[in-house]
Amino acid sequence: MNHDASLAPATVTVAAGRPDRAQGAAVNPPVVLSSTFVSQGVPGSGELLYGRIDADSWHPFEQVLGELEQSAHPALVFGSGMAAIAAALSLVPPGGRLVLPRHCYQVTLGFAADLAARQGVDVVLVDIDDTAAVVAAVQGASMLWVESPTNPMLEVADLPALVEAAHAAGALVGVDNTFATPLVQRPLRQGADVVVHSVTKYLAGHSDVVLGAALADDDDLHARLHAYRTLHGSIAGPFETWLALRGLRTLALRVERAQANAAELARRLSTHRAVLSVRHPSLPGDPGHERAARLMDGFGSIIGLRPRGGVAAADAVVAALSLWVPATSLGGVESSLERRRRFATESPTVPEDLLRLSVGIEDVEDLWADLSAALDGLEGEG
Ligand SMILES: *Cc1c(COP(=O)(O)O)cnc(C)c1O
Repeated sequence: MNHDASLAPATVTVAAGRPDRAQGAAVNPPVVLSSTFVSQGVPGSGELLYGRIDADSWHPFEQVLGELEQSAHPALVFGSGMAAIAAALSLVPPGGRLVLPRHCYQVTLGFAADLAARQGVDVVLVDIDDTAAVVAAVQGASMLWVESPTNPMLEVADLPALVEAAHAAGALVGVDNTFATPLVQRPLRQGADVVVHSVTKYLAGHSDVVLGAALADDDDLHARLHAYRTLHGSIAGPFETWLALRGLRTLALRVERAQANAAELARRLSTHRAVLSVRHPSLPGDPGHERAARLMDGFGSIIGLRPRGGVAAADAVVAALSLWVPATSLGGVESSLERRRRFATESPTVPEDLLRLSVGIEDVEDLWADLSAALDGLEGEG
């Protein structure tokens, strides 16, 4: 793939994946509604054939994301983040060992448990920010799975050190880059073999589409991910992919604003009397701060918040908010939050009273007014 290395990521998000420039040509790519493509005889390589194998409606989005992740290949778009994760985890052979963070997306943990039950995969859970423990666990592993920052605990991994140890042990490294986005972290350039995204979140960014993507530099790995998508039919629709591209065009602005809002809210929360603890890698005292400052180009816009007063207080905060949306998912323009342990499937080591806040792009004073009033209300209850 051709990179114009002189263009900054914010420019790539806007300029890449456009139709060829010609007098009277459309500025935006079309949505092509066709399940099949004109073809006869023995198909040549790269030729469009059938809409489960490849479709031109996917290419502009795949090109932009490939350039943002600085991948040797365009991204591969999937029907959801989980479909992309399933493709990546298919690289673990039956009976192999998969090392993954004990705090990571809960459905990824569920998928790993399914691999253990059905394919005898030895699943080893680690604290991804404990580098020595991960290095010990990857010996004999087929794959190390990384989320950084983790969902929902916001632990930050020393990714270059983990990649080096995993590769020395002969293990592949897969990274779920959903929380950071490629503007903040490019794992392939830190040595990872596979990167996945829940495009549903920041990349599409408007809470109106479910979509995923996977990327690999290596020709063979890329071909295996593509083959998985074709064999399982885990493909994206043309409209969904077009919507995701439309959202992606404003990624840089959205991420910049959301990160600034999150850092300011985290700073204010850290001195509020009704707050037991707050986690955001931007805070100087946060356990992930030093690593995030060294390895990432930003601190993300997810906050972990534990109000004083336990589960009842956490639920009361959620109920008292009027601007913040009580909802699962994250990465939309609107600020939202939820108590993660309301899901029985969430990791038992996530505190019962942890609220995960996804900070959006609203005015920060409006967000603070709503949030601080909800917290002040707790104090009133005594
Ligand atoms: C939401 C999420 C996923 C799953 O993506 P879907 O698009 O919902 O399938 C995977 N990883 C992380 C970190 C997520 O937040």
